[in-house]
Amino acid sequence: MSKPRVAVLGLGIMGTGIAGRLLSQGFPLSVYNRSLEKAAKFAQAGTFVASSPREAAARSEFVISMVADDDASRGIWLGDQGVLAGAQAGAVLVESSTLSVGWVKELASAAVQKNCEFLDAPVTGTKPHAANGELFFMVGGSAPGFARGREVLSVLGREVLHVGPNGSGALIKLINNVVCGIQAASFAEAIALVTASGLDREKSLAVLGGSALASPLIKRMLTAMATEDYTPNFPLKLMSKDIGYAIKEAERNGSRLQTAAPALSVFRHAIDLGLGEQDFSAVVKSVKN
Ligand code: NAP
Repeated sequence: MSKPRVAVLGLGIMGTGIAGRLLSQGFPLSVYNRSLEKAAKFAQAGTFVASSPREAAARSEFVISMVADDDASRGIWLGDQGVLAGAQAGAVLVESSTLSVGWVKELASAAVQKNCEFLDAPVTGTKPHAANGELFFMVGGSAPGFARGREVLSVLGREVLHVGPNGSGALIKLINNVVCGIQAASFAEAIALVTASGLDREKSLAVLGGSALASPLIKRMLTAMATEDYTPNFPLKLMSKDIGYAIKEAERNGSRLQTAAPALSVFRHAIDLGLGEQDFSAVVKSVKN
């Protein structure tokens, strides 16, 4: 059976990896990015570079959006030049960015009006996982939509899990990331305390890195600190965005995330210091006692 035509919208860290993976697996591909520079290497490889999300969608049976936040996503899907203006009836439309649940549900309704299948399918995993087909997709949508979506998502992910109806994927992703953000912020404070107290830094890091607190996330932070390399795999400003969306979502559900608010303050302070474009692990540079 021939492979479906796929459009990837958003060629940031994650979208570039996803588009590259689809190309390497022989999918006919169209790409779109707001700023053209990031599409150049795809154009050189002979990939069709669309001038709008609408044009990319019109050529494709399967559309994947991977952009920064709700505002970016609205720009991709809505309006004269948005995906919904060009989508083919019956197309599978996938929003893989980490977004608010409210916007994702609104988008799902708009997609249904266009007779399309819609999946919210955010991911865990970062730059190398996107490039190598090793993401974890948590998917919200109907059972038939999920069955159709798997055809492409299973090429991009080591796991493609149907979590529930539209909005479920978006929600569990925010729950995951708010815990990541809290861990990262509290670890930054711990490092500041090590420094302020005059403890031996190297030995302290050996203790912290060898204990139960050394989750994969904390290990990534320790590696970034050891190499002083804060090149973004997951930009700090996006971690801040996710904590903020999670707090709002908890409020909507009448639930409290008491440790999330101070973590958000830590990340906002890091952004004020100009660290927003660096990797989230750069939050360790922002806390001083
Ligand atoms: P990124 O490298 O910062 O790329 C952001 C993308 O969004 C770029 O294509 C950018 O276009 C586009 N964009 C931003 N604002 C826009 C707007 N107003 N209109 C249209 N396009 C806009 O981010 P990323 O790391 O790839 O992350 C993408 C999504 O995946 C985010 O929701 C993030 O939270 C989520 N995520 C990231 C990771 C990770 O490890 N990086 C892991 C899991 C989930 P320009 O190039 O024109 O700026």
